[in-house]
Amino acid sequence: MRSRTVLLRFAALLVGAVVVLTGCGARPGGAATPSSAPGPVRAGAGVGVGKPAHAASDSGSLPRIAVLATGGTIAGKANANSAVGYTAGQATAEDLIKAVPGIDKVATLSAEQIANIGSQDMNDQVWVKLANRINELFAEGKVDGVVVTHGTDTIEETAFFLDNVVSSDRPVVLVGSMRPATALSADGPANLRSAVQVAAAPSARGRGTMVVLNDTLHSADDVTKTNTTSVQTFKSPNTGPLGYVDAAAVNFVQPVPQRRHSHFPVPSAPLPRVDIVYSHSNMTADPVKEALSHGAKGLVLAGVGDGNTAKPVLDALSKAAKSGVVVVRSSRVGSGETVRNAEVDDDRLGTSAAHFLNPAKSRVLVQLLQANGITDPAKVQEEFTTRY
Ligand code: ASP
Repeated sequence: MRSRTVLLRFAALLVGAVVVLTGCGARPGGAATPSSAPGPVRAGAGVGVGKPAHAASDSGSLPRIAVLATGGTIAGKANANSAVGYTAGQATAEDLIKAVPGIDKVATLSAEQIANIGSQDMNDQVWVKLANRINELFAEGKVDGVVVTHGTDTIEETAFFLDNVVSSDRPVVLVGSMRPATALSADGPANLRSAVQVAAAPSARGRGTMVVLNDTLHSADDVTKTNTTSVQTFKSPNTGPLGYVDAAAVNFVQPVPQRRHSHFPVPSAPLPRVDIVYSHSNMTADPVKEALSHGAKGLVLAGVGDGNTAKPVLDALSKAAKSGVVVVRSSRVGSGETVRNAEVDDDRLGTSAAHFLNPAKSRVLVQLLQANGITDPAKVQEEFTTRY
């Protein structure tokens, strides 16, 4: 992803320069097409920069966007008896929409309540319900995009799950907030407006599932929460953001990917159990044994450095891998690649390297692989490598 990112950024700059210098939009395949006044670049046309941020739907009227609510701080309300306390998942989908003045000028919205929980309680059942509903809405052709309101704590996991089981080229945009709906300067309404703008933008097509907060747009693969309380908490540490949103425009700074990974059918819940083993100094193999004793079918190492850990842990992981458990090495570091066969010999241990996926997302992918019977280490590695 690192070299790919550099190339993509270079390509994005080049396309941007062509657009600025010639007023033409480039199509994949290289053919330049005239474009009139600034406007959103069509899906597949590379970097989308321009106004307006929204456009007519396939039916010729305002884009139709479904808002599916799951809870989180964006739906949170203050506790009457505490200065800082609040409870996530209180306001409904309709309440959230009503709090955004003028949102009806951006899109025609429908609202559904899928759940109303803090995302620390997010689970396979809600994921599966959400994914099935999104696929159904797209299959029926009733919506041009979907916005999912969600708590920020695990938003990156849900985004990654959806990105792997929703195959439409129409956008799915996850949004949350860091301050509850009742807070001074609540960030939810502006974030929700941004999410609807993105879901309604033709330039958002073909980009899979995205996350938007604080005017910044991220891919499901790379987005991660980096700060416990700041509104500027989400970052894409390896690729940089996909783009930015303001009141007037959705500006993509990265091109539409030419080829995306394959999608899995939506599994049924519960998904196979996969545990994360967090590595640290003075580490023993106990957490590995503990996870296996509870029936884990997969283990993800949140390793030190380049996905490393103490020898007894590596030995236990290797033993598990050779007994059919899917074992993937990721890193607790927060950015950078976990490299196959670098300091740790994956070939010998029977483990796979997560490349740029963090431990939380690696765990989701291993669940999906297990659910689809993909357990052979070479095939597991291939699935991680295609997301590289
Ligand atoms: N605990 C909350 C949640 O993830 C935090 C938030 O939404 O910002 O639901």
